[in-house]
Amino acid sequence: MRKIIVQKFGGTSVADTEKIKNVAKIVIKEKENGNDVVVVVSAMGHTTDYLVKMAKDLSPNPSEREMDMLLSTGEGVSIALLAMAIQSQGYDAVSYNAMQAGILTENIHSKARILDIKTDKLKQNLKDGKIIVIAGFQGVTEEGEITTPGRGGSDTSAVALAAALNAERCDIYTDVEGVYTTDPRVVPHASKLKEISYEEMLELAHAGANVLHPRSVETAKLNNVPLRVRSSFKLNNLGTLILGVDKMELNKPVAGVAQDLSQARIVVCDVPDKPGVAAKLFSKLASENISVDMIIQSYARKVSNTNDIAFTIDKSDLNKTLVALESLKAEIGVTGDIEVDENIAKVSIVGAGMIDRPGVASLMFETLAKQGVNIRMISTSEIKISCLVDKAQSAQAVKALHTAFNLDCCDIADVKGDLPNV
Ligand code: ASP
Ligand code: MG
Repeated sequence: MRKIIVQKFGGTSVADTEKIKNVAKIVIKEKENGNDVVVVVSAMGHTTDYLVKMAKDLSPNPSEREMDMLLSTGEGVSIALLAMAIQSQGYDAVSYNAMQAGILTENIHSKARILDIKTDKLKQNLKDGKIIVIAGFQGVTEEGEITTPGRGGSDTSAVALAAALNAERCDIYTDVEGVYTTDPRVVPHASKLKEISYEEMLELAHAGANVLHPRSVETAKLNNVPLRVRSSFKLNNLGTLILGVDKMELNKPVAGVAQDLSQARIVVCDVPDKPGVAAKLFSKLASENISVDMIIQSYARKVSNTNDIAFTIDKSDLNKTLVALESLKAEIGVTGDIEVDENIAKVSIVGAGMIDRPGVASLMFETLAKQGVNIRMISTSEIKISCLVDKAQSAQAVKALHTAFNLDCCDIADVKGDLPNV
């Protein structure tokens, strides 16, 4: 049986017609290799940013439905152009938007999850020898409403399609050569990882590494779809393979360091210290579809019987969050202020190899201390430690951690598992 390969091309890979021709060549080569090819594309270049800017020019708080209507148009342009480019090389290609491709999502604007993909037509097209080009980032609800999964979501469209079609692999073609130990713009000697586990990649993505949309990694992990991240411009580089942690040799405690500059910290001061308050507060945010990341509740002050609850959210949810909190203040008896800080950064170290290796957290804190970086919040998972720091010190923190955890060398395969002495 022929294998299905899903290829996804990001905005920079289809930024102009010359680049679209380059993509057509890559697609055709995969077809010539004897595989069936399903291609998922993003909007051309910075189209989506431009659409967002126009919306903001017209309304400070545009409705999420109309934002989805607007932003989903970008991908409609690139699919048709790519299909034409492929056809002009003598190959049979067809482009589909989400409705035509049957990408069914839940009925939530700007964050919709994919529920189901109807594959009958797609499979028939592949049987007929067609190359299928599908709009990433778009979805459609049962009622025919257009949705999007959130910025960067075409990775998730691609992986969901790969899972639904039982594809051999999902190749994410982008403008970087793979997944690095950290952002090479911050640390120029960051190294490219040959492999990384879904689990680590997921934590890195949540920690602010912008290589992949986090939900795409979740979907890949859930369905065991091997993912490859590679450049559309440097084809001799095979990029980074993302696969199950069970298939990896964990010879180092930390695989990567990431920074997330997109969060804001909110402190709700003087919250009554009694059962049910945190539940009310966070259920309200959940009902507004606001994801909360780090949370700290201070010890209750004996005199006033109140405490402070601090948490971080994505800056894009800031207005919504403040409105929600204001409406709750009286109900839960908050007597203090609501403080907002946007000058923060979350710096994280990630590695499946940190499990059962003591000393990783202390090395992180000592490294930050030596740099004079103040830690404002801490959160941990099994394979990640995150510290909230001042934005101005974020790059310095990332560099120091990259060095402290032995990631500064050129060949990552040489990194040994022992923690360096401090
Ligand atoms: N075009 C959308 C965006 O810029 C989706 C994507 O690129 O993945 O967010
Ligand atoms: Mg993108």
